[in-house]
Amino acid sequence: MCYNLSIFFNKGEMMCIFCKIVDGEIPSNKVLENDDFIAFHDLYPKAPIHILIIPKEHVDCFQDVSVDTMSKMTPFIQEVATLIGVDKSGYRLITNNGVDGGQEIGHLHFHLLGGGKLMWNHLHEDNRKSI
Ligand code: ZN
Repeated sequence: MCYNLSIFFNKGEMMCIFCKIVDGEIPSNKVLENDDFIAFHDLYPKAPIHILIIPKEHVDCFQDVSVDTMSKMTPFIQEVATLIGVDKSGYRLITNNGVDGGQEIGHLHFHLLGGGKLMWNHLHEDNRKSI
């Protein structure tokens, strides 16, 4: 269970930005969609290609995802990589889990980054516990 993430309650209504994208309440620049998953371009890309891949069913975080969902999500992600042409050149796949993992939206999502040689920068804040 991932605590303190972005399931906010507003006037008794659950608000999750990715569930709203799934429902079509918030538009997204879709790359691929099937019955279970959606892939769409990140609004704030960190690389020439930055795609977010989410399950349509709300799952808080990677720690909570089922084997069944991941068994379907893996080939979907591979299909996205092939579709956008980074399956041969390479890409980075990231999921941030929970607060210390840097997860900003409390709905499981994978970042697929590519389109150029990616760097691997210092990954933790100096004033926090070392890892
Ligand atoms: Zn959600």
